[in-house]
Amino acid sequence: MNLIDMHCDTLMRLLEEKKGQNLENTDCSISIPGMKKAGTLAQFFACFTCLEDFMETDGYEGCYRQVLKMVSLMEEQLASFSDTLAPACSFDEIMENASKGKISAVLTVEEGGIINGKMKRLNTLYEKGIRLMTLMWNYENCLGYPNSRDAEIMKKGLKPFGVEAVERMGELKMLVDVSHASDGTFYDIIRYAKGPVVASHSNCRALCAHPRNLSDGMIRALADKGGIAGLNFYGAFLGTEKDSKLEEMTAHILHMIRVGGKEFPAIGTDFDGIEGMVHMDIPRAEGMKKLWEALRKKGLSEEQLELIWCGNALRVLKELD
Ligand SMILES: [Zn+2]
Repeated sequence: MNLIDMHCDTLMRLLEEKKGQNLENTDCSISIPGMKKAGTLAQFFACFTCLEDFMETDGYEGCYRQVLKMVSLMEEQLASFSDTLAPACSFDEIMENASKGKISAVLTVEEGGIINGKMKRLNTLYEKGIRLMTLMWNYENCLGYPNSRDAEIMKKGLKPFGVEAVERMGELKMLVDVSHASDGTFYDIIRYAKGPVVASHSNCRALCAHPRNLSDGMIRALADKGGIAGLNFYGAFLGTEKDSKLEEMTAHILHMIRVGGKEFPAIGTDFDGIEGMVHMDIPRAEGMKKLWEALRKKGLSEEQLELIWCGNALRVLKELD
């Protein structure tokens, strides 16, 4: 049961309120013991930064510094736990790590605003091992517009600099992540991206009408481009507000298969980025087997389950080689 989880916010926790903890010894949802139990092949670690924290100071420049701090934190963790954890920038590296019995850590950025109009920063991020960038979080940035309940904002797409950045990401071989984007930005990315596009942690709008989720049209457009979406465990995106339950998780996966095909769904838990839940059927990586079992009971084949767990993500990662 090899798992690839395309999104967690564990680095943010370890940098902030869980300072002093580490990936081996933590009460975070993602930990080394938890990943071992889950059979994790690769965990994507997001360097997430929130504009609000730097609104009073230097905005996205502060966000950029915050991301660099998270990259350093990841480097420290990789150095401390090199027996079990190793960095990976490609399909081949993930496979090589696995052959040595090591879990791969893939670095990502969640907030493309850190580029802040400086295209060269994409190169710097690439050199630091970043292989996926979520173009925006919930604020407008130099690239484009975020998801919103405001129909006007939702229509707005990529800015000219955003189009250039998406093209450059394709040349660099960095995954473009549409999660958090406005619908307009989503369709612009589909139009301009030269390389692979993913929704690292987004669910289905047909089942839960949240602007963070993908409409059926978006699922089809993303699937047609060879992209994938990672199932998000956050209740508000599953349609259960303060609960995160297997029943809805399986429903979203089944809908993704129905609309996007069997090569579309993947996993993007959002672990350690989820707040305010009263109950979670799977609160930590350790519990991932429960989802496998629940999906098996819904009639999914072993082959389909393997595609969801890692096959679909690996196919996209192969395009980076
Ligand atoms: Zn997110």
